[in-house]
Amino acid sequence: MARMKPQPGIMDIALYVGGASHIEGVSDVVKLSSNENPFGPSPAAIAAVERSARNLHRYPSTDHAALRNAIAGAHGLDVARIICGVGSDEIITFLCQAYAGSGDEVIHTQHGFAMYRISALAAGATPVEVAERDRTVDVDAILAACTDRTRLVFIANPANPTGTFIALDEVERLADGLPEQCLLVLDGAYAEFEPGYDGGATLVEKRENIVMTRTFSKLYGLGGLRVGWGYACQDVIDVLNRVRGPFNLSSTALEAAEAALGDRSYTEKCLSENTKMRLWLTEALRELGVGVDDSHANFVLARFGSAAEADACEAHLKTQGLIVRRVGGYKLPEALRITVGDESACRRVVHAISQFK
Ligand code: PMP
Repeated sequence: MARMKPQPGIMDIALYVGGASHIEGVSDVVKLSSNENPFGPSPAAIAAVERSARNLHRYPSTDHAALRNAIAGAHGLDVARIICGVGSDEIITFLCQAYAGSGDEVIHTQHGFAMYRISALAAGATPVEVAERDRTVDVDAILAACTDRTRLVFIANPANPTGTFIALDEVERLADGLPEQCLLVLDGAYAEFEPGYDGGATLVEKRENIVMTRTFSKLYGLGGLRVGWGYACQDVIDVLNRVRGPFNLSSTALEAAEAALGDRSYTEKCLSENTKMRLWLTEALRELGVGVDDSHANFVLARFGSAAEADACEAHLKTQGLIVRRVGGYKLPEALRITVGDESACRRVVHAISQFK
């Protein structure tokens, strides 16, 4: 037994389980559990990875200028107010480290992304869970839960694992109603999947209390390289840069992300395939009697009659080589989150669930 005790709160963090991509004894496995791009990275990103190999003896850029410039250009943002992280996970970590400590409260919603609670606990702060309404972020409930100790409020829009979305004026109403000492973190990991939505960038321009986070792990197909970014007012970015390690992102990751961002025709193709297959999958599952909300992301949340039924369905899918995500940890034990795969994967899912039903 080690004599050193961890900081308070650390042992409340559950160890991560999941992420498996193979099934013992089953061939032709499709992983539909991490909302990855089924078509893989853009060929331009793969070429950038290969090119970057020649310079692996060099430390990477510390200011990420090339990638930040590319992001600023692609999204019409101020380059000085962009920060890059090892996935958007790291931006979430920076926010908690920099703004929430012992005695502070960090709000996340009932089915919110697990990292909000983990990062809050790791920073010594107290996570506060707020109920959702119909699996959707409830602005009034969040405002009612704020206290003079609330330092951060995390919402994902579109949300994971529910796939639901709230309109920008609702987000703005939330930002307007927050106590003075509190930052709203608008997690846009799935923002690209909602047509016409800018992840809240326009709100960040108007309000100093909003931070937008984004990622290259979903639409851009670079989950394995771990690249995310944040956008906020200059003061917040200056604070976050103080907790950021100087070489947090590898040169390979920086160069691949820049190339992926430049390959617009590839991302547009992936996006239109996702929309087409998501609608198809949603309808097909509903026809089988599975509950599915309209999803605004690259996955659907399939709700069964009970946790036992979801368990049995997951087990059956596994025998068919299909890995989906249990969302019991998100307090949705009757549901399975299924990434929208390519057409063949979606057809396999529907076929397997029809056998199960
Ligand atoms: N936010 C949400 C809502 C997510 O679903 C994820 C990934 N599952 C992330 C953030 C983190 O993504 P990454 O660290 O790969 O950028």
